[in-house]
Amino acid sequence: MTSSFTRRLIHWQKTQGRHDLPWQNTKEAYRIWLSEIMLQQTQVQTVKGYYERFLKRFPNLQILAEATEDEVLALWSGLGYYSRARHLHQAARWVVAKHQGKFPESRLMLETLPGIGRSTAAAICVFAFDAKEAILDGNVKRVLARHGGVRGYPGHPNPQKALWALAEKRLPKKDLIAYTQGLMDLGASLCSRSRPQCDNCPVSQDCVAFKEGLTQELPERKTPKALPQKTKICLIVLSPAGVLLEKRPSQGIWGGLWSLPEYEDTVDIELICRQQFGITNVPVKALKSIEHGFTHYKLTLLPIKVRLRKVALVNDPARWLKLSAVAEAPLPAPIKKLLLTLNP
Ligand code: SF4
Repeated sequence: MTSSFTRRLIHWQKTQGRHDLPWQNTKEAYRIWLSEIMLQQTQVQTVKGYYERFLKRFPNLQILAEATEDEVLALWSGLGYYSRARHLHQAARWVVAKHQGKFPESRLMLETLPGIGRSTAAAICVFAFDAKEAILDGNVKRVLARHGGVRGYPGHPNPQKALWALAEKRLPKKDLIAYTQGLMDLGASLCSRSRPQCDNCPVSQDCVAFKEGLTQELPERKTPKALPQKTKICLIVLSPAGVLLEKRPSQGIWGGLWSLPEYEDTVDIELICRQQFGITNVPVKALKSIEHGFTHYKLTLLPIKVRLRKVALVNDPARWLKLSAVAEAPLPAPIKKLLLTLNP
């Protein structure tokens, strides 16, 4: 079954798979790495624009390593999961410092770089260095769990072990690139999460999920938990110098980005204004709340606008930013959207 599976998948990829994505048809590890990182939690259509803008500004590893974290985050703004950008930047610096700017060519070595897991390292090795390595990203887990009838939630250790074993067992002796790309293409197209098109699938004849009517059950889902809800006040302090921003800690949500000062929803904002800016009777205006979902919780932000007549002195990690510079700044997408609606 294995050789037949790989043969059909390779043929399908060559005749019906994707061949013109901006990160295909290159052996440059830097470009392949960048695409793999951007694609980790983001759809192809969204990634395309970000990928091209990123490469225009940082065309190679050396230039990325020399950039500041703020410059890198600014080009990632809106793509989410910002630890990806910080890790990319740290890894570029590490490769330049320790490897004279030459990308490591072994999977195990690549896995030691920040933000590169086993599957990403394997994909870079296959596409850039023609290595024989197995990948197992989210889409590939779905294809293999269905085709091989692997039970259990793929994030749990035993099903994950079984899927890695299957991924390795099915590796062909040649045409590794077409095979790997085929798995990715099948997972991104016919073998979709909610409506797999099994009638058109090149590997349907021996697919366990298809034969046994289990395509909606496999891969098994994690038992859903109700996400906790948090509510925070975000303060939009405007002055002739622009809007007041604070750099967020590198760990946690929106890590390393610049954002509005946040407070618990129980604080007295007038007291905060008095204590932090030494001013009283500041006109305070509440704006429409913002809802934002993270992996672990839902956040409601209650924006409150305060306008100062004079510029107040602020210390690190805070700064004033002109509203005209907001569009290009490294801010979380919902905050950027909110600020872009304000009048200078
Ligand atoms: S037959 Fe259906 S479930 Fe099986 S691999 Fe193909 S698309 Fe996925």
